[in-house]
Amino acid sequence: MQSVRAYSIYPRGRFAYRAPRRLRLTLFMAKVAINLSTGSLQQEEIIVGIDLGTTNSLVAYIHPDGRQPVAINDQGRGSIVPSVVHFPADGEAPIVGNEAKPYLLTNPENTIYSVKRLLGKNYGDLGGHAAQYGYKIIDDNSEGMVKIRVGDRFYSPIDLSAEILKELRARAEHALKTPVNRAVITVPAYFNDSQRQATRDAGRLAGLDVLRIVNEPTAAALAYGIGLSPDEEKTVAVYDLGGGTFDVSILRIQQGIFEVLSTNGDTYLGGDDMDRLLVEHWTGQLGLASQLGGNIPLQQELRLLAEQAKKHLSQHDDFQDELTGGSALRISKAEFNALIQPLVDRTITSCRQALTDAQLSTADLDAVLLVGGSTRVPLVYESVSTFFGQQANNSLNPDEVVALGAAIQADILAGNRRDVLLLDVTPLTLGIETMGGLMDPIIGRNSKIPTKAGRQYTTSVDGQVNLKISVYQGERDLVRENRKLAEFDLRGIPAMPAGLPKVDVNFILNADGILKVEAIELRSNTRQAVEIKPQNGLTDEQVEQMLMDSLVHAKEDVAARMIIETRTMAEQLIYQVERFVDKNSQYLTEEEIHETAAQVQNLKDVLAANGDKDAIMRTVDTLEELTSPFAERVMNISIKQAMQGKRIE
Ligand code: AMP
Repeated sequence: MQSVRAYSIYPRGRFAYRAPRRLRLTLFMAKVAINLSTGSLQQEEIIVGIDLGTTNSLVAYIHPDGRQPVAINDQGRGSIVPSVVHFPADGEAPIVGNEAKPYLLTNPENTIYSVKRLLGKNYGDLGGHAAQYGYKIIDDNSEGMVKIRVGDRFYSPIDLSAEILKELRARAEHALKTPVNRAVITVPAYFNDSQRQATRDAGRLAGLDVLRIVNEPTAAALAYGIGLSPDEEKTVAVYDLGGGTFDVSILRIQQGIFEVLSTNGDTYLGGDDMDRLLVEHWTGQLGLASQLGGNIPLQQELRLLAEQAKKHLSQHDDFQDELTGGSALRISKAEFNALIQPLVDRTITSCRQALTDAQLSTADLDAVLLVGGSTRVPLVYESVSTFFGQQANNSLNPDEVVALGAAIQADILAGNRRDVLLLDVTPLTLGIETMGGLMDPIIGRNSKIPTKAGRQYTTSVDGQVNLKISVYQGERDLVRENRKLAEFDLRGIPAMPAGLPKVDVNFILNADGILKVEAIELRSNTRQAVEIKPQNGLTDEQVEQMLMDSLVHAKEDVAARMIIETRTMAEQLIYQVERFVDKNSQYLTEEEIHETAAQVQNLKDVLAANGDKDAIMRTVDTLEELTSPFAERVMNISIKQAMQGKRIE
């Protein structure tokens, strides 16, 4: 049979041909609390809840005395760990948290912040925002995940998030004096599959078995005690204004199930913008604009004073201080409110939209919950309460509320809350094989069933008419380490150029644990389906072993996945550059053509020599730097020609 290839929109992949093997059919169901009966989940082992935030992160657990959630404050350093990672020049281990923060100004190139915004994204997803980061984000001109360049090393957002998680884990272990291996991690409700998977991978790299990824608004509701009793029915709004991001979610809670009815927000709006507006206000008032450029200590001082003033005004009506040079700084609460009013108005517009999308009115809401440090600003609290027509609930610490809710979710998963409904879940991830033998997860481990999930794929070869779908179960990144459940061909796709067919692969897991996999080519409506019944089930011990293996091999697995993705991206670049030069040689000089051919050869050599990820990326970088001006030149020429053409007409 002909080898068939396809790649997914994200992550890009290919179905490498493999000889059909006997189908292994496996049990897809488990109870969340089943591990208690197998003894695999020791009740005394702590499962932490982690809020992996854009600006700040926290870890919480359920205190054994009183069984209340508590944010972990290791060595009196406070519970908040700034989500900042600094790489020292000497190649020493990265520094995370408060100690890393000063380097944002003094050594921005080697200091990574807001990495959550990059998780599970490709360069195109950043939509022009890439340039505003102090560090270097690589445009690899492909659909692969972005990379961050620090010195001559390349890191993925997963690597960097794992550094933050390692720090949180270390703090928890230090404070609780016990190993911490299991966690629940929260993500925004609007995170897509690949962002959720990236968060899971980061947890695994940090040595954590991620029992569940939970939506932040769900965690906030749990922290407020909503959804803990099975007969409760509530509709709530969760308004989350942090340092750099804003989102609002409308949730419906019914029989222990949290449904996100709508979300809205702005991933570039938060307390930092309030600080910036205040800095601009003072800069204008004191005529400091000309002194600011390049004066890092002055910029830093102004920014810190602005944040201090903002926090002070949450309690008082007036703020006064002075700059090191003696210039007096003043701002009243009324002036501050006037400055930030447009920002607050934007958040209210989002709330209105979220309600409209959920087809609800403010009267339908049982509660409005506040999350994020910036909800301490009185104008925010008042505006939100006025808009929703009820007092917003801010009785919990807005910095901690998400982590506290994650800890409650962890406690539920540990089976410590017998009163909470237990739902059937799938104990292992279900997915299909993509490029290079990678596992592309479709239904995540611990998903409640029944459930349905799908992804879209396309071909990578012109005229491809068949697509092989191989279904796997397991937690490892390479399918050869997982269990193959089924394999079938989607045949009869009309011949089209590569990338044009749209193939939806859907997994439908019903309440009896029967998995139906269907593949549909949308343009031609060609379809094929297979049903996999839960026979020859895995024992709990086997499931446990598979989970253990995924943790033990996390590092090598993620490294293997990255090298496969990097190689694929490099191969595609070679293909694109060669095609470009072929088509546009008349616009290039002999020397440019020669130089490009030499660099392409260089990259081919690195690939042939099985170069490591960084070596490939460096060579890709050089080739891109060389060729991107050519692409721009050709683009300009075509625009010019098109315009001339118009004039002639
Ligand atoms: P988060 O991302 O949720 O940790 O929120 C951090 C943001 O909350 C930062 O912009 C802080 O300046 C802001 N913040 C923290 N405390 C206060 C306060 N008392 N008043 C106003 N803003 C605050």
